[in-house]
Amino acid sequence: MISTQSSICFFNTLTRRKEVFKPLEAGKVKIYTCGPTVYDFAHIGNFRAFLFEDLLKRWLIQCGFKVTHIMNLTDIDDKTIKGSQKQGVPLQQFTAFYVKAFFEDIKALNIEPADIYPKATDHIPEMVTLIKTLITKGYAYRGEDGSIYFSVCKFSNYGKMSKIKVSELKVGARVSQDEYAKEEAQDFALWKAWTPEDGDVYWETELGKGRPGWHIECSAMSMKYLGETFDIHCGGVDNMFPHHENETAQSEAATGKKFVNYWMHNEHLQVEGKKMSKRLGNYYTLRDLLAKGYDPIAIRYLLMSTHYRQQFNFTFEGLEAAKGAVDRLKNFVRRLHDAAGKESGGKVATFIGKAEVCFEGSMDDDLDIGTALASLFDFVREINNLLDANTVSKAEAADIGGLMMKFDAVLGVIGKVEVEEDLAPDIDVLVQKREAARKAKNWKEADAIRAQLKTMGIVLEDTAQGIRWHKEKA
Ligand SMILES: [Zn+2]
Repeated sequence: MISTQSSICFFNTLTRRKEVFKPLEAGKVKIYTCGPTVYDFAHIGNFRAFLFEDLLKRWLIQCGFKVTHIMNLTDIDDKTIKGSQKQGVPLQQFTAFYVKAFFEDIKALNIEPADIYPKATDHIPEMVTLIKTLITKGYAYRGEDGSIYFSVCKFSNYGKMSKIKVSELKVGARVSQDEYAKEEAQDFALWKAWTPEDGDVYWETELGKGRPGWHIECSAMSMKYLGETFDIHCGGVDNMFPHHENETAQSEAATGKKFVNYWMHNEHLQVEGKKMSKRLGNYYTLRDLLAKGYDPIAIRYLLMSTHYRQQFNFTFEGLEAAKGAVDRLKNFVRRLHDAAGKESGGKVATFIGKAEVCFEGSMDDDLDIGTALASLFDFVREINNLLDANTVSKAEAADIGGLMMKFDAVLGVIGKVEVEEDLAPDIDVLVQKREAARKAKNWKEADAIRAQLKTMGIVLEDTAQGIRWHKEKA
């Protein structure tokens, strides 16, 4: 392992520059990532964020850190209440459906699960305690509507992360919705007094009958599980304001301590160069793409392969290319099983060393995945050349395979490559029959055999060594 825990740099939104990553406790990293609001199936923009976070976490683990990862589930907010009312089902039943769907989706995308997925509705007492502290310390007050608001002008650091101009705040202006635009920065609701629109969604607490605001949920849950100060908080750039600005204000006002050391935000996702929206008809959930027959691992590769701080343009062409890239990696690993040539004379060891340095150096540099993948594909090409010349020994092939598995612990796209040796003799016979048919220009028979192989899950490919086959992953 070339990478050391002290060589990692991340771009910190707080300072707008790359900083050497230094955890609070040596060898351990505590991460909080804003999870899904469970009122609908998650879309590919959501998954871009979750995949960036997965890559970050896998990289930290690869570097030897013990990572504690908390991802909340927002199962009470304006959107979930509206959704449950529209469907005419109780809130809990409504959100449980989308929670289940979310877990199915992250499994399909091979996202490493978080250690804990706290639900907002299970943490109302923690939120009430936090709000009471804010009232006691003079940062929160009750409005005439009965709701409790955070007073942004009382917190001198307000606006620091998102760079919003606090001088433009209208004194006393308030907002009770969970989401609002930047130009409307104003006192925001911590606790929302019950209104008839909330129906039967409310809690009777010391703060009165009502429900929490969205932002207080993440403050209460992150600090409960990770402590008052923790290492990394991630999320989409669209959550920087107001959500993360408000989380920071609430938490730091209550504790008097720094809330988070490193804030990492991923950029937006576009679809075919346009903002993704249901109105434009370019809105895709993971399920929409799976229904079109796309492989979730190709989707994973695609959403992960652009640097997280760059805008990402999703296209179906890109998705096809991603599938090709994943196939190339799998076929390469499969090919290693057959290697039994003579020693490369030190070439393999040199290529392995170079690939390791490039891949790890790139990932250490604020997760520069583009450069890391480029070095990986250079490596694959160089080794393929040696394999073509039959100058890779069995022992060298095992070393190469080991490196590929190490890279894949970070990428999560190759997985277990099956080599179906039992089937091999039968398939070899069919492949030879097809070759003979092709040579005899008997296209009909050649196509029929190809179709037969396809039903067996066998994929054929033309290589310099002639026709090769592999079993398609189920
Ligand atoms: Zn959050």
